[in-house]
Amino acid sequence: MSIRPRPRDDLLDVGPYESPQFDVAVRLNTNESPYPPPEAFVARLAGAVGSVELNRYPDRRATELRAGLAELVGQPVERVFCANGSNEVLQLLLLAYGGAGRSAAVFEPTYLLHAQIARITGTLVLSTDRDSSFRVDPGHAVRFLRDEAPDVTLLCSPNNPTGMVEPRDVVNAVLAAAPGLVAVDEAYGEFAADSALELVDDHRPLVVVRTFSKAWSLAAVRLGFCVGPPWVVADLEKVALPYHLPALTQVAGRLALDWRAETDARVESIVRERERVVAALGAVAGVDVFPSGANFVLLRVVGADGHAVWEELLRRGVLVRDFSDVPRLDNCLRVTIGTTEENDAFLLALKEAVG
Ligand SMILES: *Cc1c(COP(=O)(O)O)cnc(C)c1O
Repeated sequence: MSIRPRPRDDLLDVGPYESPQFDVAVRLNTNESPYPPPEAFVARLAGAVGSVELNRYPDRRATELRAGLAELVGQPVERVFCANGSNEVLQLLLLAYGGAGRSAAVFEPTYLLHAQIARITGTLVLSTDRDSSFRVDPGHAVRFLRDEAPDVTLLCSPNNPTGMVEPRDVVNAVLAAAPGLVAVDEAYGEFAADSALELVDDHRPLVVVRTFSKAWSLAAVRLGFCVGPPWVVADLEKVALPYHLPALTQVAGRLALDWRAETDARVESIVRERERVVAALGAVAGVDVFPSGANFVLLRVVGADGHAVWEELLRRGVLVRDFSDVPRLDNCLRVTIGTTEENDAFLLALKEAVG
């Protein structure tokens, strides 16, 4: 007789993270960069891979990469920790500060993986709503945090999928009221004017999480990092597996930092395209567009069915992300900013789809 062991009861209704993929010409559904990394970087990386000592474990402390990241963000190296994508950083934060008997606060609608990773680590999810324009209301947030006393508070700024940047006074209000750790996920921070990075301090329970998956055109490399007090870094090192960051990832990250100017230029051009797309969407009848500080834009179809419009776009070879079945995001679609040609293809297809 074969027996099938059951996973933890609290995982019974957790599904795998899903984002439908289709092989179409214009893929604007996962907020990656539309540009491959610079050719010169790829050539340097190919050369550098040859000198990695593959029979040896990687540098456990990722010394050189951390030093480069510290320089990138203008922070002491003791405040930097890196992992396999920012999702792993978040998982490690929740392993260290969440877990059984502990809780994490999220402001919905937000990045679906925050609640998902919390649940997988056995952390109770305490969710509360953003206001009607998808902003975190500071008064409401303060009351919620005081009443619920979460061990971890997760903010996402710019927020995925709505695009809004949390203003400094909201971050400060959350920091003042949250009894535990505050993590600000800035996966799209490069595309925004404001960042919580400069609030990081050795004595403040704030950690800012960043990634190479978006602005840096390196989603396939799986590299993320965070900046926080050295004692948070020490706690993350306790829960990370030994040698968790592959030597190949460390090399790729270190070399990428040499192409910072190119990355900044790409971010600027994506921001320009974003503003063009937002303006163009504003002129499309039957569509409401939300302001964005990220490399994507959320829109709401008015007077038609959001999912049907998503299907119409797909039929025209344009894949965007359908949020129409997510609470409070009825009829909402999220489109990643692509190249000028991709954005034009999307705008044309959308006009036809809602027209
Ligand atoms: C894309 C995204 C990430 C990136 O995750 P990685 O593991 O670094 O690829 C993190 N947070 C948010 C909110 C995102 O949208």
